[in-house]
Amino acid sequence: MAIDKYNLYINGRWREGEEREYFSSVNPFNQKEWAKITQASSKDVHDAVDAASKAFDSWKNVSGKERAQLLNNLAELIERNLNKLAILESTDNGKVIRETLTQMNFAARNYRFFAGYADKIYGKTIPLDNNDLFNYTKREPLGVVALITSWNSPISILTNKLAPALATGNTVVIKPSEHASATTLELAKLIDEAGFPPGVVNVVTGDYKTGNELTQSAKIQKVSFTGGTETGKIIAKNASTNLVKNTLELGGKSPNIIFEDANLNAALSGAMAGIFGASGQTCIAGSRLLVQESIYDNFLERLIEKASHIKLGNPLEMDTEMGPVATENQFKMIQKIIKESFKPETKVVLGYEHFKDQLQQLEGGYFIPPTILAPVDNESIIAQKEIFGPVLCVIPFKDESDGIRKANETQFGLAAGIWTENIKKAHRVANEIQAGTIWINTYRSTAAQAPFGGFKSSGYGKERGEEALYEYTQVKNIMVNL
Ligand code: NAD
Repeated sequence: MAIDKYNLYINGRWREGEEREYFSSVNPFNQKEWAKITQASSKDVHDAVDAASKAFDSWKNVSGKERAQLLNNLAELIERNLNKLAILESTDNGKVIRETLTQMNFAARNYRFFAGYADKIYGKTIPLDNNDLFNYTKREPLGVVALITSWNSPISILTNKLAPALATGNTVVIKPSEHASATTLELAKLIDEAGFPPGVVNVVTGDYKTGNELTQSAKIQKVSFTGGTETGKIIAKNASTNLVKNTLELGGKSPNIIFEDANLNAALSGAMAGIFGASGQTCIAGSRLLVQESIYDNFLERLIEKASHIKLGNPLEMDTEMGPVATENQFKMIQKIIKESFKPETKVVLGYEHFKDQLQQLEGGYFIPPTILAPVDNESIIAQKEIFGPVLCVIPFKDESDGIRKANETQFGLAAGIWTENIKKAHRVANEIQAGTIWINTYRSTAAQAPFGGFKSSGYGKERGEEALYEYTQVKNIMVNL
């Protein structure tokens, strides 16, 4: 099979990297190299930043109406290429096709949503004490923005950044993850076709060195980053050296809390979707399942039964429920954690043993089966460290205050689920949980309109919704002597 080769997209042109160096993109379902991606050099990165910087001079004056038209063109092209993009992403990172199709649809929706805002970036007129003065504000774009993304949902994560950045008049340099760059480069082809002027969007590919080079550039006005918490700290440090803004979407270890008065059928589905969706490789994974003691045994039994029927398989087949994890690194790291990081009283109540027949058929893929550990002490490493895989820690709790305390006992604060039929309790608990997103009687539901972003070590800044516009604009105040 011919191997696809991807170059860099800089200033509206496709070009080879200066050093003509490539790295492999490996399909995690069969460990086969399927694409070659350019390793950008330092000069390539600087060329991309220069192109974005030059393009900003004219792009910032393009009318909101025109920017909206281009974003809508892009949405339409994504819709026309939905299957192709979804297949490529599933090939690249192993996510099942049902999910990648949903994510491509979401991407198109997100571009349309922010297209709607492009001609509505309003300022204010401000009444003053002195009537001889007239005061107003404008919201202006920042300039060149670096968008750095992770491998787990490349297109949908990028969309959360790119759509508001372009709608508000910024230019960008994108650096996708070295583990899944292909769909971002395919998207760049659609951006080109949509008619965006050269230099408004640029894509450089490569590993952490490329990201590091990009974030240290003095011409960047902001870094919007999605990835691990430790990398986020480096990004924030670099950003502080150049005094540039940053948005950090980092890791999580989210609690999914099941109260005794929950609709247990719905809660079971929510618990499953929370951890086994995307093979657990989502920042919002409900990886700590807190179950009230009075229903603990019964709920755990039903959960094991339901999870034991999950169909592992080829991510490109529509009936596959869980694909492989995305990289060899993840595969090894998760196995190591499952073996080493929990106390003797904790048992693997579902895992390799149950899925061994299915796994035998799938040899050659980076498959980690649905794994349930119970009962887990909330303070143990396995309950505190982000695993980023289909590994669920089941943690019993006594009552409402114990549930809240355990839910908050984590360095992270990205998301939380609350399952109860008692509406007062649901709001009380939502009020107390330290997380940027709270789901009540649902889990992993998202919307273009709903702001998203973490508390505590899960980062800062918001994506999606009106809040995202403020992340990519700065307020200018103008005082006029009448
Ligand atoms: P990662 O931090 O290893 O890499 C993310 C990106 O940063 C990649 O493009 C990488 O090349 C780049 N990078 C690495 N070192 C860099 C440096 N020193 N300077 C600049 N760029 C650098 O993360 P990952 O393994 O790709 O993704 C998994 C992590 O992402 C998990 O922790 C997950 O929770 C988090 N994540 C968060 C969200 C969210 O919205 N909060 C969404 C998805 C994933």
